[in-house]
Amino acid sequence: MPRDRSAWLQGAKAFCLQPPPVVRRTWRLVLLGPPGVGKGTQAQLLSNALGACPLSTGDIFRAARSYQSAPGSAMAVAQERMDHGELVPDDLVLGLVVERQPCLRCRGGFTLDGFPRTLRQAVSLDGMLETHRLRLDAVISYELSEEELTERLSGRRMCRRCHAVFHVVKRPPARAGVCDHCGDVLERQRDDEPRAVKARLDAYMEATLEVEEHYAKQNLVVSIAATGEPMVIIAHTLDALAARTLPSEENHSPAPRGLAPSNAG
Ligand code: AMP
Repeated sequence: MPRDRSAWLQGAKAFCLQPPPVVRRTWRLVLLGPPGVGKGTQAQLLSNALGACPLSTGDIFRAARSYQSAPGSAMAVAQERMDHGELVPDDLVLGLVVERQPCLRCRGGFTLDGFPRTLRQAVSLDGMLETHRLRLDAVISYELSEEELTERLSGRRMCRRCHAVFHVVKRPPARAGVCDHCGDVLERQRDDEPRAVKARLDAYMEATLEVEEHYAKQNLVVSIAATGEPMVIIAHTLDALAARTLPSEENHSPAPRGLAPSNAG
């Protein structure tokens, strides 16, 4: 069951309807990897396994489509950039994340998906975490060939209400075009149209590799091959996180697989 993320999707004035899950260890993770690699699916599976709330900056922009942004407003500019597969300007993205800092402090933990995407965003996130005396546990970098990424993106369909993600071939819904979770309509996002896909992959290569280097210097990066079924990839991810758990931390917090609270997610 996807988590309610009202505070993240709508910003400072909104509250999540569910309290954070009770977790024995609070995980704070960043997911890196090109568009189409399956970060959103893995973020949801990590939420089920560890309780960490999936926080995607792309979802903030998609959620904002449900209301009409004033022409020329920051959100309208962001959505236009997004439709062309281009990155949204740092100032705008950072403004949205700064406003949502309470989500970083959530005691259920978080998995950031799609943020940070530039070195400036990564440095700003370091500053925000430092202010709250928090630190990241790991930065998971998912890897996949460009050919497979293009195929995955063009077949992707998303629920216009709950943002659950399907694939016409690899993860079809029970009824074509209808969300399994809430019954609303599945749509292809404008930025998954073929013309936007290449631009997105190029934008990723240009900006995000620097982000990975930034985190590699902090010894936070865990690389995972994103081939195969989502359940196989999440198993590798949880194993890799368990392997990173320091012996001194094990006394207080068991390895990830032992952490899954039955009501998490
Ligand atoms: P995603 O769902 O993460 O692939 O994001 C969809 C689109 O939203 C991207 O192609 C960008 O246009 C925009 N976007 C999301 N997150 C960011 C970010 N951190 N920085 C810049 N643009 C972003």
